Amino acid sequence: MIDSHCHIDLEAFDLDRDEVLQSAFKAGITRLLVLGLSNSRFNKLLKLKAQYQQLDIALGLHPYFLVEQGHSRTQAMFDQFLRLAEQYQTQYIAFGEMGLDGSLPLNMDYQRQVLEFQLSVATQFRKPIVLHHRQSHNQLISVLKSNNFDGGGIIHAFSGSYHEALTYIDMGFLIGVGGTITYPRAIKTRNTIQKLPLDKLVLETDSPDMPINGYQGQRNEPSQLKHVINSLSELKSELKDEVIKQTTKNYLSLFGLSEN
Ligand SMILES: [Zn+2]
Repeated sequence: MIDSHCHIDLEAFDLDRDEVLQSAFKAGITRLLVLGLSNSRFNKLLKLKAQYQQLDIALGLHPYFLVEQGHSRTQAMFDQFLRLAEQYQTQYIAFGEMGLDGSLPLNMDYQRQVLEFQLSVATQFRKPIVLHHRQSHNQLISVLKSNNFDGGGIIHAFSGSYHEALTYIDMGFLIGVGGTITYPRAIKTRNTIQKLPLDKLVLETDSPDMPINGYQGQRNEPSQLKHVINSLSELKSELKDEVIKQTTKNYLSLFGLSEN
């Protein structure tokens, strides 16, 4: 089973990262994708990848880690991003986490500028992207369309309507299924996921965020992925083994990887 979205690099894991990863491996997790957050944080991902062969990494500028800056500083950030993209293209498998977040006090035009830059780099380097959304489906879909982005990727922590999910799937995206579906009150997202084909879904924890139902207030960990699998298996009336097998296959084929 694969955790397609986690932030194991964050300070929340500095004291016990190895234990957390070992318990994830013991729980049957064979790969984890650690998302990029900023240029300066990418170095830590390279180091972690060198330490653990099960880790996949991505290069990205996450809206949470952006500060609106003037033209020349923004250009310097883009230049550095391009240098990293070029230099480490055999190391990372995707671009992201990138996106639009309507809950942040950060100018939406600025967020859009940074997103469009990353879409162009992803197209140039031919790698899928991992998208972050929050109160932003309409804008996100319009940015993808107006930029003619067709490189595919994952919509991380999808919550939304069936129609929105199908729009992303039509554009070549897989839908990231996380802890949200473990909450009975998440009716809309649970109904959406139930109707989507299993061959368009990938699993994720978003550790240390997005706690599983019953574990609110605690740090989330990749080993908790089993709860997402249980809920998905129930929702779709599929055996857990089938859920694991198909979502693993979806992840590997998106990124052109083979099972190791
Ligand atoms: Zn994330």
